Amino acid sequence: MRRIRPGRPKKPKLAATIRKPRWPGGRTPKLPILRPSRSEPAYGRAEVEAAIADARKSHERLREAIDLLPQGIVFLDAEGRYILWNKKYAEIYGRSADLFKPGARLQDTIRIGVERGDYPDAIGREEEWLAERLARLYQPGERHEQKLADGRVVLIEERLTGDGGIIGLRVDITELKQREASFRLLFDSNPVPMIVCALDDERIVGVNDAAIEHYGYSRAEFQKLTIRSLQAFDSDPPWAGDRSNDERTARTWKHVKANGTLIDLAIYSRQLVYNDRPSVLLALMDITERKRAEARLAFLAQHDGLTGLPNRNLLRQQMDEILLHRRRSAGKVAVLMLGLDSFKSVNDTLGHGIGDKLLRGVAKRLRSTLREEDAIARLNSDEFAIVQTGLARPEDAVMLARRMLEAISEPFLLDGHSVVIGATIGIAMAPGDGDDAEKLLKNADMALSRAKTESRGTFAFFEAGMDARAQSRRRIETELREAIQNDVLRPYYQPLVDLSSGRITGFEALVRWPHPERGMISPAEFIPVAEETGLINALGGLMLRRACVDAAEWPGDVRVAVNLSPAQFRVGNLLSIVMDALRQSGLPAKRLELEITETLLLEKSSQVQATLHALRALGVRISMDDFGTGYSSLSYLRSFPFDKIKIDQSFVRDLAANPEAQAIIRSIVSLGKSLGVTITAEGVETEAELSCLRAEGCHEGQGFLFSRARPHAEIIELLRAQCEADAAVAGRAA
Ligand code: C2E
Ligand code: MG
Ligand code: MG
Repeated sequence: MRRIRPGRPKKPKLAATIRKPRWPGGRTPKLPILRPSRSEPAYGRAEVEAAIADARKSHERLREAIDLLPQGIVFLDAEGRYILWNKKYAEIYGRSADLFKPGARLQDTIRIGVERGDYPDAIGREEEWLAERLARLYQPGERHEQKLADGRVVLIEERLTGDGGIIGLRVDITELKQREASFRLLFDSNPVPMIVCALDDERIVGVNDAAIEHYGYSRAEFQKLTIRSLQAFDSDPPWAGDRSNDERTARTWKHVKANGTLIDLAIYSRQLVYNDRPSVLLALMDITERKRAEARLAFLAQHDGLTGLPNRNLLRQQMDEILLHRRRSAGKVAVLMLGLDSFKSVNDTLGHGIGDKLLRGVAKRLRSTLREEDAIARLNSDEFAIVQTGLARPEDAVMLARRMLEAISEPFLLDGHSVVIGATIGIAMAPGDGDDAEKLLKNADMALSRAKTESRGTFAFFEAGMDARAQSRRRIETELREAIQNDVLRPYYQPLVDLSSGRITGFEALVRWPHPERGMISPAEFIPVAEETGLINALGGLMLRRACVDAAEWPGDVRVAVNLSPAQFRVGNLLSIVMDALRQSGLPAKRLELEITETLLLEKSSQVQATLHALRALGVRISMDDFGTGYSSLSYLRSFPFDKIKIDQSFVRDLAANPEAQAIIRSIVSLGKSLGVTITAEGVETEAELSCLRAEGCHEGQGFLFSRARPHAEIIELLRAQCEADAAVAGRAA
């Protein structure tokens, strides 16, 4: 390879020569030549000089004008000789400028430049380079770039003039090129995936390494795609509608990767000219993870973490929509508030792990009873709200309520435990009971509270007046709390009578609340409130202690029976409370009877069983109260060895006239005999009932026929009278 050392003047050796301009039609135009015509007079010297002076002046003016131009400009004649060039032209070429002389041929200056090494691209391929350069000279409108030895880049454009000459334009595009290079660098090595799309056909014309890696397409595959083929959904490209060309805010988009996975993107777009084509640069920020996290957060804010059901917030929103639709369609909507019965005892006895599983199981079963358009939410630990839409009649809500109760009634098998849980439902209907979410939820809740106290395990509709009742319950709660604090509550005692001897064997302690304004308030009114609010523990403890103290004053073997609420078993210290009461009063354990109801055994908890056995081991007797009112009374008898069964007063009512009731009493009595359990009939009011019970062989009776519950002072009198009577009988016998 022949190297040309710059700076050493040499005779041009390069062979490439100028090519003749190709005019349309292939002929060189005939240029007009100005000659004095024969008819015109010859010009005198002075005129010629004046004309020359004029021409110089215009030449000067032209030079001054072109010197003002920001581009380099050069005029060549038809032979390619320099006529005129401006300062910028000389400045651009810098080190070659010494070669520019009027009359010098452009091809020669280029050739010398090449030999001196003024054009770095030519080094090593001088002949070819020169041939290419000269070929371009006469291609009108052609633009090309040229690198100079000092690193600058010039944009060259050459045009033919009317007289066969050339006007050459030179723009120093060094800065532009540098900018382009830094853009390239920024683009190619950017960690953010970027692509460039042509505006007209939306083809991907440029793509950086990060995009190749992120999408999984090769560069070649990318070049065959359009932006639309990346988009997950058929829609306009991200720059559509962007007329500002200044998209500072990102738009979010979904794209598909080569492997088919969907990604969320925030796309920043900016229009630019890329490889001479109007294009858009897209910076693609993958926000899939962020979106996922946001969606998860949004879900958590609106759902219950345990069951995955909507929470109260979301339910409210859903209800707003449902109720709006209801108003338009004039249909009916039911809100069912479902509360689990004794859920707390599951938590307390089997642990929170099982409690959580139970709630999940309940949620699942409830959901399975609903249609797609109904809504369900978990509101509190053991409360669910269900919104039933498109009802024709309130009976539809009844049917759903029954379905739900049935679904829950099946035992749940959790970690080897068979857990049975009951539920109660309160129902409010729109529009009758309210037409906004707030009111319907409140009224359904009220119906639930009512159902819980009156008919656990079933459902109740909201009724006008429940509101007032709810208020009165709140008042009872406050006043009861005070009454307990001020030690106002007293036990009254109702005798239990041995039916064969007619003697009093014991008394049941029944709480009485003497209210300053309302007189004596019935336990039926405040015991349920006490149970709901937890006040029952204080109340129960109080009754137990006082009953033991009172009974210790009674003669001989007269027993006292105290009622216990299931809530007292849940606290866990019942055994020590009973032991303390016995020790402090000095009452022998065998004279204390504890009455429990079937609802306690419904809980099937081992803690309850253990406490019952421990109490019995103390010598305390355990009675089953209100026998026959539960779901499966007989099965409860198997679960614990009771000392006494108290037949509920509903079986004693009309005993004389009701053969079925007689048959029931008869079988319970015979059951009691074979199990060795005392049978007591509650609510004996008439002689007819009494004689019936006697005839059936019932052991004990309790009821208004013998006595109502009375204050302690009266009991002392009663017992004294019995003692005297006993003494009289004994005296007579003696
Ligand atoms: P219970 O344990 O079944 O008590 C018997 C209820 O029947 C008492 O009502 C009693 O007055 C009533 N009764 C007795 N004989 C007759 C009768 O011949 N005819 C009628 N119609 N009723 C009769 P009371 O005192 O209103 O108590 C109602 C319930 O309140 C009790 O039913 C018991 O479950 C609960 N209770 C009362 N005191 C306490 C207590 O200290 N602790 C707990 N946990 N519950 C209590
Ligand atoms: Mg009782
Ligand atoms: Mg009873």
